[in-house]
Amino acid sequence: MPKRIVIDTVKFARNGQEMIHSFSVEDLQRVKDIVGDVGEEIEAKLEGGVLKTGKPFIDLSIKANLPLTCQRCLELMNFELNSSTRFIIAFGKSELTDLSDEPDDVEFLIAEEDTDVVAMVEDELLLRLPMAAKHEDGKCREPEWGNSARRLRLD
Ligand SMILES: [Zn+2]
Repeated sequence: MPKRIVIDTVKFARNGQEMIHSFSVEDLQRVKDIVGDVGEEIEAKLEGGVLKTGKPFIDLSIKANLPLTCQRCLELMNFELNSSTRFIIAFGKSELTDLSDEPDDVEFLIAEEDTDVVAMVEDELLLRLPMAAKHEDGKCREPEWGNSARRLRLD
């Protein structure tokens, strides 16, 4: 069963709490649907804090190495993710409008006492995964090569 991890976002931020958690793809059902069942670890780090303006925030960093299927040659490719996102905590939907003058690279989170960390990490990963994964130009295997290499590995 996937674990459930919840935090009180406002307390977490105001107390400057920190949490590091390693997930397996198995724990993140919606990510598993895309990348398949692989033994890769996904490391998520949450750090709470308060801005000079008094607004609480949580920084979420994710490190993962996920095998995706290249949509051009159908070989596996490694997708390396190293993301960092700042979520400013808004007290209710109405405050979201007041926060619209914050920089564009900032996201928002509605203050809740039981925010699901697993869902947060999943949402962030799904946002960052490429819609159609592709090797860099010129890095795809030739089709014949690809197929025989795959058979060899399966044997
Ligand atoms: Zn390719």
